[in-house]
Amino acid sequence: MNTLPIGWVGLGNMGNAIVQNLLRNGGIVNVYNRTKEKETEVVQSGARSQESLQQLVHNSSIIFTMVSDDDAVKEVYTGLLSHSPSGKIFVDMSTVSPSTSRYLADTCKNSNNQFIDAPVSGSIKPAQEGTLIIMAGGPADAYEKVKPVFDVIGKRSIHLGDNGAGSSAKLAANYLLGLNLQGLAETVLFAEDNGIRTEDMLTIINEGALANGITKGKSSAILNNDFTAAFALKHLVKDLRLADEQGLRTPLFRPLINSFEEALQNGLGEEDVMAIFKYVRQHKSIQPSISNIYPDDNVSDYAN
Ligand code: NAP
Repeated sequence: MNTLPIGWVGLGNMGNAIVQNLLRNGGIVNVYNRTKEKETEVVQSGARSQESLQQLVHNSSIIFTMVSDDDAVKEVYTGLLSHSPSGKIFVDMSTVSPSTSRYLADTCKNSNNQFIDAPVSGSIKPAQEGTLIIMAGGPADAYEKVKPVFDVIGKRSIHLGDNGAGSSAKLAANYLLGLNLQGLAETVLFAEDNGIRTEDMLTIINEGALANGITKGKSSAILNNDFTAAFALKHLVKDLRLADEQGLRTPLFRPLINSFEEALQNGLGEEDVMAIFKYVRQHKSIQPSISNIYPDDNVSDYAN
């Protein structure tokens, strides 16, 4: 792969796994994490710890960021750009709003740098294996320069258009993720209420046409009642809120976001997204009427 030094900010569940993969593939990686202890694992694997965001930018030609949310990304970029670097390519792989991506792109452009929004589909295991799907928005020439690194991080990267396009695609993808998780939980619990063992129902789903990466990947969490976060539920709530801001008004969206919001309020935010199973188990008999689900909207479009 590209042997120019790469900068990486954010060593959470995803950043840690991606950096380990880059190092295994011969990458030279400068790292910075707000909480320094989280750098230990990747430093033991050969990453170079940087004292500050400014030092990381100085020592790297392409700088990746992967942190929690819009506020975190904006805060990190304030630090990254504070010493007026120029000629660098910044790549944000966090899931944030398209408007934040466009704002960061403008900020980078104003200081003679380039920016790509490049959120990913896939969780820790694809990150470790380099099989993520990368959704990129930004200048085509910058995308081509970063592509050798994307080819190590993912099995497919797609250049979707201008800045913000990657973030728009990611919000759509995570709506389907939410539907999958909620649907899997409701289906297994409906079967359980009718005397079907969870193990058998998951086999029926996963051995047939209903299977997908989510049903297969999340079955062991349900069977073992182990919801240790690979993708924390609080982050999916954040993504559904961003989809709400982007105008998602389809029939299933309001019940879906309400369900995940309530799971968050029930203390499940730090657990894996599949912990929606626990929430649905406790609340599965609730049957809200559509006028309660969309109190402020004209629902006639959905009733036809
Ligand atoms: P995570 O495990 O919760 O890690 C969050 C990271 O953000 C940590 O490194 C944290 O630093 C850093 N951070 C948060 N606020 C910050 C701030 N104000 N300044 C500097 N750093 C800050 O999150 P993750 O699961 O890796 O996810 C990261 C992003 O990728 C999120 O946008 C998420 O939606 C997206 N994503 C996640 C997955 C997944 O399966 N996990 C998949 C696709 C996309 P500290 O260590 O100091 O707290």
